Amino acid sequence: MAEAMRPAWAAIDLQALQNNTRVIRELAGERRILGVLKANAYGHGLTRIAQELSDIDAIGVARVDEALQLRNSGVTRPIVLLEGFFAAAQIPVLAASNIQPVIHNLHQLEQLTATVGVSNPMRVWLKIDTGMHRLGVEPAQVSACYQRLAELPQVDGAPILMSHFACADEPEHAQNSTQLKRFADVVAPYQNPVTSIANSAALLAGIGEQYDWVRPGLALYGVSPFLDTAGSDYSLQAVMNLYASVISVRKISAGEPVGYGAAWAPDHDTHIGIVAIGYGDGYPRNAPEGTPVWIRGRCYPLVGRVAMDMVTVDLGAELQVQLGDTAQLWGRELPVEKVAAAVGTIPYELLCNVARRVQLDYLD
Ligand SMILES: *Cc1c(COP(=O)(O)O)cnc(C)c1O
Repeated sequence: MAEAMRPAWAAIDLQALQNNTRVIRELAGERRILGVLKANAYGHGLTRIAQELSDIDAIGVARVDEALQLRNSGVTRPIVLLEGFFAAAQIPVLAASNIQPVIHNLHQLEQLTATVGVSNPMRVWLKIDTGMHRLGVEPAQVSACYQRLAELPQVDGAPILMSHFACADEPEHAQNSTQLKRFADVVAPYQNPVTSIANSAALLAGIGEQYDWVRPGLALYGVSPFLDTAGSDYSLQAVMNLYASVISVRKISAGEPVGYGAAWAPDHDTHIGIVAIGYGDGYPRNAPEGTPVWIRGRCYPLVGRVAMDMVTVDLGAELQVQLGDTAQLWGRELPVEKVAAAVGTIPYELLCNVARRVQLDYLD
């Protein structure tokens, strides 16, 4: 086994992805699903994940190059550009590739109006600021924007009305009802408007269920957006399993320091495992002592500083791990939610940060 040791890799479990799509489909009921694949599909590999997700209605990305990458790899599904175009020059490109922009401010509306003669009209989404105060037109501007968009020859049909929650991961937060109320008021004047508000957290918590399109990201990958639950609580399964090999096992005497800065030393004789993953792979450098690492059926505490290519784990006095064993940094055996909590971050960041040099192995 030691002959075949690999540095960090991620096994991407496509059956888990299909399971999660089914779970989301059930939760969504009659609603349509926009699967969010920004940031390289949350680190899982944009094109492959898009190709596997044949059972969702549309794909959401954040950047034009992500949308074009999908078109170039043969994805024909509707693609929504969640932050819209960043420059007027992108508009004809979007129209030619049938990519649907979100319009979130008046500047974009002017740019779209000024871009005459696009090859074919685009479906557009109109984003409304109901309280996040980042992107979106103000509620008082919606009716004028809606009207203008609906009449533009560059636009196909009426815009889809959307908004985004600031606090959906805290379902009891008062901000959710504030935003829901504003959204309801804004969409009320329209006859059968097409609407969208729920991200993963809102979908799982049952917030905003009356609106047409749900926009799950994290849940697709089997991960819970809530601090106090795991994806498995909703029958979701972790799609990413991040692994690395144990490339050295050694004895360390009490008091002998391990790693950079001599920052940690055991108070008893113990064994240390060296695992071939580090911040160069996207493993968080600030992971503190005690962050769990799963090897051979149990979790061991991370000790010492995370280096570029290695981490060290306290294997204890009674050694049950061998050179060449595979460690799981997060995944099915060790939920990324747990690791994120130990590190003081959110699962989104850990997943997105997985570096390019980490090979993605797709498992059917
Ligand atoms: C990222 C994003 C989502 C998905 O959020 P999750 O919490 O991952 O489900 C939904 N809508 C918009 C506008 C987003 O930017």
